[in-house]
Amino acid sequence: MQIANGIKMLELSKNHMGKPLIAYPTLILDDPVILVDTGYPGQLPQIREAMAKAGVPLSKLKKVILTHHDADHIGNTLSLQNELAIEVLAHEVEKPYLEGTKQSIRLAQLEALRNIMPEETKTLQDNLKAFFENNKIKVAKTVTDGEELPYCGGITVIFTPGHTLGHICLYLRQSKTLIAGDALVVAGGKLYKALEFTNFDADLYEKTLHKLTEYDIEAVICYHGGLYQENINQRIAELVGKQNKKPSPESLSKKLLKRLESVMEQTLENRI
Ligand SMILES: [Zn+2]
Repeated sequence: MQIANGIKMLELSKNHMGKPLIAYPTLILDDPVILVDTGYPGQLPQIREAMAKAGVPLSKLKKVILTHHDADHIGNTLSLQNELAIEVLAHEVEKPYLEGTKQSIRLAQLEALRNIMPEETKTLQDNLKAFFENNKIKVAKTVTDGEELPYCGGITVIFTPGHTLGHICLYLRQSKTLIAGDALVVAGGKLYKALEFTNFDADLYEKTLHKLTEYDIEAVICYHGGLYQENINQRIAELVGKQNKKPSPESLSKKLLKRLESVMEQTLENRI
């Protein structure tokens, strides 16, 4: 879907227990062509198809910017690096998780939940571990908060740690488009904060989200939920002022496990 001149939102769909699970990476059609986040593991054919539909062959892709290191965002990065000479950009804090010199924070969270985990989930966890071990991504360039990338009329890096410790959003100045990664979500046609259980550090998330109020935003692309275009500045100001409800640690753990299962299942299907 065309969002603005040179910006397309891709739609990558997978089936999860009979329901469609959709990821929305962003394609930036400049010289170089850039992809922001790369889908669930095993979706390279879908990326190829979605890019062709957008009028660009996959072979033209030169750079990938990763908002953070969750498996559903980095799923096909290594395949892209193996197939093409792709340069990967990410925040400096996220780099060691991507390169595998630090353990993924999701794996660390799962480790802590292992005693309440059903056996089949343990298998999925082992599989996610294998995914990270087999998907060490070389980061060619690190970016910092406020850095201006010279593409598509200027892209500002907004450092928004909390969901992960090196999470970034991107603001495309010319079209006033925010690529939110997982800092915000769209559900039922409305814009929301990231669900509490998906944030590694909930307090840090709350603290850094207000940065988004400093930008004049006309379109938001959320990796989960897609495009949102209604009174965005007003909606973000509303969200920043509202504290997320604090669920109990038990319910947090259960929800986190459920979410991670959907990602882990895909890595399993991909291996078979
Ligand atoms: Zn995430």
